[in-house]
Amino acid sequence: MDATSRDYQISPSSWNRFEECPRKYWLSRQRLPGKASMPASMGTAIHNSVEDLCNLELSDREGDEVGWLQSTARDVLEGNWESERKEFMDTPRHPRWKSEMFPKAFEGLVGALSIMFEKAALPKSELTEVTIRSWRQVQAIILATEDTLESDCGRLQGRLDLLVIDKESGGKEGWIVADLKTGKPPRTELSEKVTRQLLFYRDLMKQRNPEHPPIIAEGWYSSNKTVYSADGPSILEEAIEAWKTMELSEIPFHATPSQAACSFCEWKAWCPKWWIARNEGQLGGGGVFRDEVVRLVRLDRDSGAALFERTTPIGDEGELNGSDYRFGAILKGQALEQIKLLEQAELDAHLFLGSVRVDGKIVHMGDWSEVIPWAPILRSTPD
Ligand code: SF4
Repeated sequence: MDATSRDYQISPSSWNRFEECPRKYWLSRQRLPGKASMPASMGTAIHNSVEDLCNLELSDREGDEVGWLQSTARDVLEGNWESERKEFMDTPRHPRWKSEMFPKAFEGLVGALSIMFEKAALPKSELTEVTIRSWRQVQAIILATEDTLESDCGRLQGRLDLLVIDKESGGKEGWIVADLKTGKPPRTELSEKVTRQLLFYRDLMKQRNPEHPPIIAEGWYSSNKTVYSADGPSILEEAIEAWKTMELSEIPFHATPSQAACSFCEWKAWCPKWWIARNEGQLGGGGVFRDEVVRLVRLDRDSGAALFERTTPIGDEGELNGSDYRFGAILKGQALEQIKLLEQAELDAHLFLGSVRVDGKIVHMGDWSEVIPWAPILRSTPD
């Protein structure tokens, strides 16, 4: 491996981001303030809890003991939930922490455990009935948890959730490269993004272990306790080709705005392209929750009532004009605090409003929303 090949690496998530919209990937590498999300934090808490339970030290326990897994799983999740909460609150951009989602997280953890029982060829049973012996059988099929994989050339890297012995691979024991998914399961088959990610792990695992047994790649969806396989030829050559095009430049990569890419893009305040696409009618913007780029006309700091003027883009670089479209808004909580700070700093600035809730002619903004200065980036800033 030559020294320069390590200068940057790509992972399945950065590759997927690049495929979705090259500008999104470029912006994600500009040291902009990150945004926390409840589904991501919940997913991490479940992942870390599965890992902790896989590595639980049980050597001094009686094999017949029951009634321990339910409480242990809950305790482990509570610990990870609290760590995630702290990290979430320390992230510069974050909505409200929803502690009421803990039962859903626990359900997700139970779903993940039930897939693991199935993989260990154990009968389905309630957590309260699981013996220490059974859990040891589950632990026995786990070859690795949270394993970092890197290609021989050093350009590709990823973090695999689980490497598991495949007991059903037709006589000879094989391996399963498994990624635990805590989001919405696919309707029929895995998306292109998830397939790409799973094959990436599978192929790095093969490259790292030339004498490997048969290896399959699976996405384990905890919410419906269902396993989806990813098949296909090796993806490593394609990944190296992507690596070559992903070297960061000072000038932003081109943008490919689309409903799928832009809906949850956290870099909108720094990207002029989605607002142009929206104004040209290429992107929907008519949902109950939407984003806006505006000028603040007035704000009543006590009641949180505001009047905004929607902007229209001029040219390609994020410059804006006024318009005659105005709308009223009621701001509360975080959104009100943010706009008060910005109003003090710069009265005439343009603002990005993230996730306003439309209710008739008025919009509502609260802890789920964001108010950020509109600041399209046209060049990367030096380190
Ligand atoms: S807002 Fe849309 S066009 Fe802009 S970076 Fe994000 S995904 Fe790409």
